[in-house]
Amino acid sequence: MTQEAHVTQGPLTTEAGAPVADNQNSETAGVGGPVLVQDQLLLEKLAHFNRERIPERVVHARGAGAYGTFTVTRDVSQWTRAKFLSEVGKETETFLRFSTVAGNLGAADAVRDPRGWALKFYTEEGNYDLVGNNTPVFFIKDAIKFPDFIHTQKRDPYTGSQEADNVWDFWGLSPESTHQVTWLFGDRGIPASYRHMNGYGSHTFQWNNEAAEVFWVKYHFKTDQGIKNLTQDEANRLAGEDPDSHQRDLREAIERGDFPSWTVQVQIMPAADAANYRFNPFDLTKVWPHEDYPPIEIGKLELNRNPENIFAEVEQSVFSPAHFVPGIGPSPDKMLQGRLFAYGDAHRYRVGINADHLPVNRPHATEARTHSRDGFLYDGRHKGAKNYEPNSFGGPHQTDRPLWVGSAVTGATGDHAAPSHAEDSDFVQAGTLYRLMSEGERGRLVENLAGFIAKVSRDDIAERAIDNFRQADGDFGKRLEAAVQALRG
Ligand code: NDP
Repeated sequence: MTQEAHVTQGPLTTEAGAPVADNQNSETAGVGGPVLVQDQLLLEKLAHFNRERIPERVVHARGAGAYGTFTVTRDVSQWTRAKFLSEVGKETETFLRFSTVAGNLGAADAVRDPRGWALKFYTEEGNYDLVGNNTPVFFIKDAIKFPDFIHTQKRDPYTGSQEADNVWDFWGLSPESTHQVTWLFGDRGIPASYRHMNGYGSHTFQWNNEAAEVFWVKYHFKTDQGIKNLTQDEANRLAGEDPDSHQRDLREAIERGDFPSWTVQVQIMPAADAANYRFNPFDLTKVWPHEDYPPIEIGKLELNRNPENIFAEVEQSVFSPAHFVPGIGPSPDKMLQGRLFAYGDAHRYRVGINADHLPVNRPHATEARTHSRDGFLYDGRHKGAKNYEPNSFGGPHQTDRPLWVGSAVTGATGDHAAPSHAEDSDFVQAGTLYRLMSEGERGRLVENLAGFIAKVSRDDIAERAIDNFRQADGDFGKRLEAAVQALRG
């Protein structure tokens, strides 16, 4: 839909619907006199304007979104009983919000940063949110480190800017970040557009079938447009010339009918494999190598409709990794477990307790039937129905069937590190990624890293950061050390 289609006709009104006589001149006591309090149109306009912004997201503030269609292309009923995945050809409406992570709401799109990939499936069993990134892994593996990590990426409390010291101090002291940092400073760290990158569910999730058998699953969305990236120099120029480059590219592609699409794949691990798999399958800093669990194509995602109002549908859109549907559930991934709480909590603060009932967020293929009521901007959707349960007047009732299957646990409670499997180390997969890159990409990776590490003010922080890459691959470390030394002198 184009913008012209949204023009409304008829007289201008106040918020309460009364006609407005003059929208150019405020009311004064005589010609040239002071403005009157009885000019309620003026006061209402200024008051409304002062309240136009809601708190921006602390992370992923800058984003763009579009509606689309997910189509099943393979029977997956042996692994999950989720109805939206139940038959080949079945279509489900979706909404996908892309974002950068560190920048504020007005920040440029063409920057080196992971891209958020927040996908809502409006299924007939409720909304299923898959809140991932354009990277299959992440910097840390326990949510308790997330606020510290983000503090190092955002503005320093004293200087008000991002500081290389903070970034590299944290990454150097958190060797589990080495894989994701290698990914980020490689060519795919600055996608040319949202259309030209892959998406990943990143975490491991549970699928369960009609027989209550459990499978662990990882999602991959492979771009049908082909991977395209920007070099650091190209990105620096574009970020200055066209800060909205990614948002504009997405909107214009959809407007001209050039609908972007992704081929959807899953990796499936039978539950019995998990305990003795060579890597901890619930560690967000690790992938499952394709040779262990080959990707299986299951569907197609196409984006084909722009939002009509960016504030209502993109800024107020909310996604929660805790929004599961029958047949899908969480894994014990400690980052995922933390996010199950943190996302809903962020929305309750940022958009309000009725955020899930805004048009972009509410179920489209079913309805929410709850006994919760009221709160800011409650729309009265329950009308006069009883607001408690059990009751003798009917209304929604429990199904007695959990969405996912419980996991066995052992041992005492405690601040346990995630279990380490036979081949787990913080460096092994970073080294694999480095060796998978072309010689040209390795050179650019080293140059990108060195340019940033060279800005660190303390030698010990720079040296510790370099050492993580040395442990990933000896050649990687040697080249990086030389490049940093050349820049620092
Ligand atoms: P494979 O050779 O089977 O797969 C390599 C994967 O790496 C492909 O998915 C490919 O994506 C992706 N890839 C290729 N070039 C780059 C790059 N420059 N930056 C980031 N990703 C790239 O190997 P493995 O499964 O054994 O994985 C090897 C390494 O590849 C991992 O350590 C990980 O860093 C990376 N990787 C692995 C993924 C996985 O799920 N196993 C997913 C993505 C990356 P494409 O097909 O789109 O080119």
